Amino acid sequence: MDTSTEKAVRAAPAAARPVALSPSRASDFMQCPLLYRFRVIDKLPEKPSEAATRGTVVHAVLERLFDAPAAERTAPSARAMVPGEWAKLLEKRPELAELFADDPEGERLSRWLADAEKLVERWFSLEDPTRLEPADRELYVETVLESGLQLRGFIDRVDVAPTGEVRLVDYKTGKAPRPEYSDGPLFQMKFYALVLWRLRGLVPRRLQLVYLGSGDVLTYDPTEADLRGVERKLLALWDAIQRATDSGDWRPRPTKLCNWCDHQAVCPEFGGTPPPYPLATGAAAPGGVLPVIPAPQSGDASAGQNGAAGQSKESS
Ligand code: SF4
Repeated sequence: MDTSTEKAVRAAPAAARPVALSPSRASDFMQCPLLYRFRVIDKLPEKPSEAATRGTVVHAVLERLFDAPAAERTAPSARAMVPGEWAKLLEKRPELAELFADDPEGERLSRWLADAEKLVERWFSLEDPTRLEPADRELYVETVLESGLQLRGFIDRVDVAPTGEVRLVDYKTGKAPRPEYSDGPLFQMKFYALVLWRLRGLVPRRLQLVYLGSGDVLTYDPTEADLRGVERKLLALWDAIQRATDSGDWRPRPTKLCNWCDHQAVCPEFGGTPPPYPLATGAAAPGGVLPVIPAPQSGDASAGQNGAAGQSKESS
């Protein structure tokens, strides 16, 4: 372990057993169980990334634009909000200043802000906020399934039609994946649909992913059968997580997404040694082998920045 990693391990908050699942952490486990351990149990710190931070700023603009009266929700006014939302985020998380610490002239920061403004502007070619009145923005949802599994997360936007039909919307600042790789992002949306169904007794009519990086909109109309399938998958996933937690057997699963992983220095696949397992181990996984959960696929080169290996607003 190098010195910076040792410091990081020492600085990590106290380890704890996982208590709930969010789409991001479910995706982490499917991508690489060891990554899940580092994030959820060891709570190893990760370096902020320009892409994930830009995503946070863009999400904030798209959320707060709806505070204004409909007629004022224009592209120029949304673009103008970008520097202010960046300043607010920096105030809340001063450590993000390190992203531009080597940029004394502010050139890279200017380009980064301009890129965020372009993403915000592109949204106006995909949706018309003057004709939308979201029922909820950045909605925190949480439910406990009959099995006791707790699910939670944040939904970017919830629209409710006069007929009562519900649409869940998620903004992505990356590019849309090729159709054969859309299962991962759709899994996240079906996760939210399942939580909302359990909370409100209504299956959302439509799930909508808005890709600001490429200007695409992906929609899916879920059925009860879909959501029952997602529930079964989550229960199997949670069972695997529980067994790994008890046994301390967290396998690395190397993929091209390792390129975006902050934990290569402590990953055996890269010659590193994980920190001592901080939880008591009990029963080993039956048969000593963890079940294989299919990893979410991603054909989006930015997935590592905005997707499974990126930073997230979700915490468990
Ligand atoms: S480097 Fe790859 S294999 Fe290792 S923990 Fe990270 S994602 Fe997993």
